[in-house]
Amino acid sequence: VLCVAKDFDFFYFVQQWPGSYCDTRQSCCYPKTGKPAEDFGIHGLWPNYNDGTYPSGCDSRNSFDDSEISDLASRLEKDWPTLACPSGDGLKFWGHEWNKHGTCAESVFDQHSYFQTALDLKNKANLLQALTTADIRPNGKFYHLESIKEAIRETVGVTPYIECNVDTSGNHQLYQVYMCVDSSGSNFIKCPVLPHSHPCGSKIEFPSFSDNSNSKNDEL
Ligand code: 5GP
Ligand code: 5GP
Ligand code: 5GP
Repeated sequence: VLCVAKDFDFFYFVQQWPGSYCDTRQSCCYPKTGKPAEDFGIHGLWPNYNDGTYPSGCDSRNSFDDSEISDLASRLEKDWPTLACPSGDGLKFWGHEWNKHGTCAESVFDQHSYFQTALDLKNKANLLQALTTADIRPNGKFYHLESIKEAIRETVGVTPYIECNVDTSGNHQLYQVYMCVDSSGSNFIKCPVLPHSHPCGSKIEFPSFSDNSNSKNDEL
């Protein structure tokens, strides 16, 4: 019997909190297009297998071509900003995500539809709105991990997975939110398998990313 391996089973849709990317020992650099808004940003849309493994770098002949997504540039700058150093315009980050992850979903998406799908998923899962509705705000305070997950579950309908990192004072904080999406990229689903990460602890910090936070010129 001829048997063809399935490309992948589902996606992780991963968003990052900029305050928690920036306030660690690694620090960050704002994009050339300016400091991002105080909102979650997309990290990636990652094809995954149900056993927890994942494909990567699937087609070097289909590598990133920015001309295919030029009409999406302003949405990408706003919703998928790069925070790595040195400062970039985003193309390097987006290109990395397409080449590493997007090419493994080329049976479902071309470059344009891959990026457009991720942007649309971010609008569908308005995380900051979901948290604010539950009075969970990026103010440097600590919140129960379970209340964060519950607030997102109530508005999006599925339970997210939270990844934490550690700030320069050693506090565990809300870093990335993982949501699972079916293999067509259209619906949030219950995660078939959870990602691995360091434990969060039962209460975690939600750091701010407002105009004056994380800035070296706070006294000005
Ligand atoms: P880290 O080691 O920082 O958790 O992950 C590094 C990179 O590996 C991520 O940015 C992502 O590209 C990839 N990665 C990590 N975990 C997963 C996973 O569970 N599924 C997929 N598809 N990619 C992952
Ligand atoms: P991953 O392989 O973990 O999916 O993607 C992370 C890669 O993208 C790293 O090489 C990292 O330096 C680069 N990168 C650029 N901008 C960002 C950003 O804002 N967040 C994260 N997590 N990685 C970024
Ligand atoms: P359970 O799945 O039994 O509720 O949790 C198993 C372990 O995973 C516990 O240590 C719990 O704290 C941790 N855990 C549950 N949900 C999350 C999450 O969203 N993120 C992280 N980092 N750990 C979690």
